[in-house]
Amino acid sequence: MIRNGYSSNRQQMVDAHIIARGIKDRRVINAMLEVPRHLFLDEAFWPQAHDDNPLPIGEKQTISQPYIVALMTEALELKGTERVLEIGTGSGYQTAILSKLAEQVYSIERIPGLAKRSRKIFDTLKYTNIVITINDGTLGWREHGPYDGIIVTAAAPRPPKALLDQLARGGRLVIPVGDETLQDLMVYIREDDDQFREENRGGCRFVKLIGDQGWKE
Ligand code: SAM
Repeated sequence: MIRNGYSSNRQQMVDAHIIARGIKDRRVINAMLEVPRHLFLDEAFWPQAHDDNPLPIGEKQTISQPYIVALMTEALELKGTERVLEIGTGSGYQTAILSKLAEQVYSIERIPGLAKRSRKIFDTLKYTNIVITINDGTLGWREHGPYDGIIVTAAAPRPPKALLDQLARGGRLVIPVGDETLQDLMVYIREDDDQFREENRGGCRFVKLIGDQGWKE
C-alpha cells in the first residue's frame, strides 16, 4: 500500500470539486485532504480515485463521489465531540472522513464482504474510533444511541422511524429520500421529542437502502 501517495490529486480534488462547488466547512475540507481516498478502492481504480464520480467497489455497490461525501458531511455540522451513526459503510471512505470529524463513529453495513474489507483498511490506517457491524441499518443501532448525527449513504423511500427515534435532541439525520432512481438529499433536525425540522439540500442519486424500513431486495 502507498500510504502517502496521491496528495497532489487530493489537493486538486478538493480545489475543483469541493471548494469550487461551495463547501465551506474547513474541518471537512481538511479531512478530505488528509484521508487517502485511493486506498478505499481496488488498485485498478487508483488513477480515477479523485474524479468527481462514484466508482464500483464490488457487490454491485459504489463509493460515493467526493462532492456528495463533502455535502453530506457538512450537513451534519460536526464539531468533534459527537457520536455519529452511519448506515452503509460501503468502501469505508465516508466512515473514515467521519472518524476525523467526530469523537466516535458507528457504522452498519448489510454486505459482510464490504464490512470486512473496510475494517481491514481502518486497522491498517489506525483509525481507532470506528466500530462496524453487519446488520440491517434501517433499524439503527439502539445500544449506542442516541446519536448527534446519523448519515445514510443509500436511498430510502422515507426516513426510517427507527433512525429518527435514535437521534439526540438537536441531532441531525442526513439521508437521500425519494424513489429508486432519483432522490432529494434531506436533513431532519430533532428540535424536540416529536418535533423535526426538515431541509432539502437538492437532488441526488444513490443505490437503494435495502431493509425492513427501506426497499425490499
Ligand atoms: N459511503 C459509502 C462509500 O462512499 O463507500 C457509500 C456506499 S454505497 C453508495 C451504499 C451502501 O449501503 C452499500 O454498501 C450497501 O450495501 C449499503 N446498504 C444498503 N442498504 C443497507 C442497510 N439496510 N443497512 C446497511 N447498509 C446498507
